[in-house]
Amino acid sequence: MRGSFRLLKAFDIDINIHITFLILPFLFMYYGLRGVFFILFVFLCVTLHELTHSLVARRFGITVKEITLLPIGGLASMTSYPEKPSHEFLISISGPIFNILFASILYFPITFIYGKEILSSPSLMSWPQTIAQCFWVNLVLAGFNLLPAFPMDGGRVLRSLLARKLDYRKATSIAVNIGHIFAVLFGYFGLIHGHIFLILIAFFIYMAASAEETQVDVRETIKKFRVKDVLPREFMTLESDTPVSRVLELVFHSHQGDFPIVDNGKLTGLLTRADIIINVHQHGEGKIIKEIMRTEFPTVSPEDFLSDVQKIMEESQLKALPVIKNKKPLGVISLEDISRVYSVMRDR
Ligand SMILES: [Zn+2]
Repeated sequence: MRGSFRLLKAFDIDINIHITFLILPFLFMYYGLRGVFFILFVFLCVTLHELTHSLVARRFGITVKEITLLPIGGLASMTSYPEKPSHEFLISISGPIFNILFASILYFPITFIYGKEILSSPSLMSWPQTIAQCFWVNLVLAGFNLLPAFPMDGGRVLRSLLARKLDYRKATSIAVNIGHIFAVLFGYFGLIHGHIFLILIAFFIYMAASAEETQVDVRETIKKFRVKDVLPREFMTLESDTPVSRVLELVFHSHQGDFPIVDNGKLTGLLTRADIIINVHQHGEGKIIKEIMRTEFPTVSPEDFLSDVQKIMEESQLKALPVIKNKKPLGVISLEDISRVYSVMRDR
């Protein structure tokens, strides 16, 4: 994710921290060492929560590339989606279950050392109270994440339960509506009690729920299609010593906007429409392709499903990817090609 940097690697998963996460230590600076300890503890709990999701997902064959820690929680980015509702259920519920287990484990030493009463006065005013706060933060994390609204785990748990009986799209749509109701309730309470933070969360939940619905709709519509089903039959490749002025001519006279760069039969680069526009604006038409092409980019195969290709595009922030088979370039698939399938096939 943009604006984040790698902190460490665990179980082959990059653990990244988003720059906004660094606001937290400032918020708690007032409490001195106890504040720092508490923030580090929250950091640990959120990381382990996300790692639990990731390790369960991995058991179902889903690769988790990275975990990003944001001030409002963590985000594990998975390279594919759970195949069955039961997988989604277990992956989603495992994170909150971790926090509940962690709290139960902490319960005994805390109450043994400080007595049960300490749990009723969590705060950062003394060390025993800070420890009590660490106990509660796990239950708060579990409770918040189990709210039945996207993008929280609870939204996914709810969808997976509905999807046992209903079509996936229908299940998503019901879960999204429930998420919207929660968002409106949050917003209402935020307004009458004047909590800006709650209003922001409400807004965030509302938007995330809508985004999930659109995403599932697209994914379900295009899921049967592979790259080879939609790949434009005709395509041009360019050599890396071609002048940019020549590329512009081609863009004006054809439908193709993105080009695989091939030298001696080998794919050596990629030139997207966006790259061409930016470079012509900055440097005019005087350069050759080699100077402006991308040399690092993902490629896809004709057998890949469009939903996976779309995911790769999202992650690499590229709207077009070269298609290769046995190292031979077969063309370029663009986001427009995928959108075309979606607009023709949806609501059928
Ligand atoms: Zn979670």
